[in-house]
Amino acid sequence: MQFKDIIGQEAVKAKLLNAYKEGRVAHTQLFLGPEGSGSLPLAIAFAQFLNCKNKQENDSCGKCSSCIKYEKFSHPDLHFVFPSNKPEKSTERNPSSELYNKQWIEYLKKVNGYAVQSDWYSFLNIGNKQGSIYARDANNLIKALSFKSFEATFKVAIIWMVERMDTTPANKLLKTFEEPPEDTLIFLIAERYEMLLSTVRSRAQLVKVPKLKQDVLMDALKQQPDVNQLLLPDIVANANGNWNRALMLSKQTEEYQTNFELFREWLLLCYKYDYPALFSFAQKIAGIGREKQKSFLQYGLQVVHNSIQINSGNGNLVTGKDAEKTFFNSFAKYINKSNQYDFYEALNEAVYHIERNAHPAILFGDLSLTLAVLLNRGRKAIS
Ligand SMILES: [Zn+2]
Repeated sequence: MQFKDIIGQEAVKAKLLNAYKEGRVAHTQLFLGPEGSGSLPLAIAFAQFLNCKNKQENDSCGKCSSCIKYEKFSHPDLHFVFPSNKPEKSTERNPSSELYNKQWIEYLKKVNGYAVQSDWYSFLNIGNKQGSIYARDANNLIKALSFKSFEATFKVAIIWMVERMDTTPANKLLKTFEEPPEDTLIFLIAERYEMLLSTVRSRAQLVKVPKLKQDVLMDALKQQPDVNQLLLPDIVANANGNWNRALMLSKQTEEYQTNFELFREWLLLCYKYDYPALFSFAQKIAGIGREKQKSFLQYGLQVVHNSIQINSGNGNLVTGKDAEKTFFNSFAKYINKSNQYDFYEALNEAVYHIERNAHPAILFGDLSLTLAVLLNRGRKAIS
């Protein structure tokens, strides 16, 4: 990773670069920052910079032989230690960073260095178990660092989520932290200072990584493909300076917005009894995948629920954006005693069948016809 790949954190980057320029890079450093702040990517980018063979003014070159390996998170002189546990159904006895290094690198590539503990555990598929950094991890690291570096200027050990390491492995590593082998740097990454052993804390120079500012998150989200710009202020306000959370929210919010637009389109076609268009619509929905189909139908159930609320004088309880509220209010007119129960049942039953692998094109085709009939029954009831 290069510094330019890291979201915000300009002050931290400047501090790290300054330490290098002044020739006072501490051999053991603790990058302390909340989830989604980028403390791990910063440590990786700094290590890449220090080993770059063609350093630029404020970043690594990204192209030299060292950078190329670092970009893949896979350099013979870069050692990762991270919490792990036995994956579900695995027969391995002794989980360790060494054992799951391949998965770890795959995961880092997937999240572009922005690792999150719970996310890593689901990637490794360890079920409800927690991960730990074990005594064997400490032993393996001490051994790896005892060899001369293969090709790099500095051997680098990055220990991620060092709060998951308890006394035994920590004690084994204290001497290494205090006095690493020659040309070796130790970067510890942690989220919670109070959970760290004081013996570990006292041996590392602290690099504080703050949570991300709202305008920084906003700019970074704008670079993401398929993010609805109108939804950004809400996402940023709820992300609490956490890049991973902002990304997750943007995906969820995006799906919600899509559901709204699709459902409105669908009901309009039902209302018009536009059979050819309904047929194409069913084909379209058939292609979006079961999880999204379920989420779409569940959104529909919420719309029916909201209509009933509006009709019974509880419209103030219905939340949504303006366009959505307009839609709820106009739709509510056609939902009444003549059809509300059947409407709800039809959608609910469709969820049931989607979960049981019904053929989606047939299911949405049939459901379109049912809803068209029901909607027009509701319309007749009020005219
Ligand atoms: Zn380079």
